[in-house]
Amino acid sequence: MQQICPSTKWVEIHLDAIEHNYLQVRQRLDDKTRLLGVVKADAYGHGALEVARVLEKMGVDMLGVTTVEEGCQLRENQISIPILVFAPFLPDEVEKIISYDLTVTVAAKEQIEWLKQALLSNSPDINSPDIKVHLKVETGMGRTGFMPAEITEAAREVLAVPGLILEGVYSHFATAMWKNKRYAKLQLKLFQETLQKLEQAGINELVKHISNSAAILDLPEAQLDMVRTGTLLYGQVPSPRHEGMLELMDPWLFKARIIHLRELPAGYGVGYGRTYKTTRKTMVAILPIGFMDGFQMEPVLKPAGFWELLKGGIKQFLYYINHPLVTPSVLLPGGGARIIGKVGMQLTMINVTGIKGAEIGTEVRIPVRRTAVSLAVPRLYLQDSKLMGIRRSENT
Ligand SMILES: *Cc1c(COP(=O)(O)O)cnc(C)c1O
Repeated sequence: MQQICPSTKWVEIHLDAIEHNYLQVRQRLDDKTRLLGVVKADAYGHGALEVARVLEKMGVDMLGVTTVEEGCQLRENQISIPILVFAPFLPDEVEKIISYDLTVTVAAKEQIEWLKQALLSNSPDINSPDIKVHLKVETGMGRTGFMPAEITEAAREVLAVPGLILEGVYSHFATAMWKNKRYAKLQLKLFQETLQKLEQAGINELVKHISNSAAILDLPEAQLDMVRTGTLLYGQVPSPRHEGMLELMDPWLFKARIIHLRELPAGYGVGYGRTYKTTRKTMVAILPIGFMDGFQMEPVLKPAGFWELLKGGIKQFLYYINHPLVTPSVLLPGGGARIIGKVGMQLTMINVTGIKGAEIGTEVRIPVRRTAVSLAVPRLYLQDSKLMGIRRSENT
């Protein structure tokens, strides 16, 4: 890899692993169940365009993004399969929605009005454009969507606008199913009752969908007409309990090379604030990574309950006493090495005492939250270990 990558750190993305994961998910679905591949958030950090191309080639039925802007970027790069925008759009985004043929989520009445106005103001000599709509139902996530009681009227309003095509109806689960399958089942039930209301009003043939990755694994009865998955495509599972339920491959590797080695005597403080003290003679390696790259940047979330709060506290304490259970580590060919001292902006120290093959230039695998990795870190795209392309951020 050294010859083709002048960088001391990079992300490898193995596209064949994404293909493999796609087929694994497909295998779990009924033949007629459609699959929507979620490529929001730059495909969870894997590269929205590159992943969209792979999924398009594999025959995915639809792509999912959060914003109109994300959808536009795919269209501007010749992605032509249907794209569903999950989040509510703004009135000034409707023109783009039409010209880029994006499928939109309608979650409130004013959105129907905006679409209607845009369709009316379009000059009649343009082949009257259609806008495909999926209605969103709020079943317990508390985010976006019509309440079940409002859905029939919303559907009728969409159907009343020439040029609006009511294509689908969907909802989203709020809980990781392994913890609270009961709540997910309640949401599913509420969604199914909502669908019945639509049927009773004579509104049929909609694409109905509610399943995300966790539901694909835990609630096969929720597959309906389509499932939406991101997590599984990227080789991850929604929770540790799901480990091994599918044979997934990890497409993602963050690597950095050791740029410096030094020996420190026992009792020597390491890093800013000297938060770590060597307990014996220690071989320290320096890696050219830090929080600027997204390393050790975890979102701070409110604990979901007292138990989680307690666990967090215990973890912090163990971290404080440098307990190996919680000290983050990186992987060298000769074994795992623990981080010592505070992670800096661009430099991190690891303890490589006794690890074979820890030399200047050695490639080290770094565990890092994918969506946090800076775009300044080059992405290397590989297919069956062959380099297909490199993406670098334009301003580096
Ligand atoms: C992100 C997202 C998904 C995919 O969730 P995974 O758990 O990654 O499969 C599905 N639907 C919606 C609306 C989403 O925002």
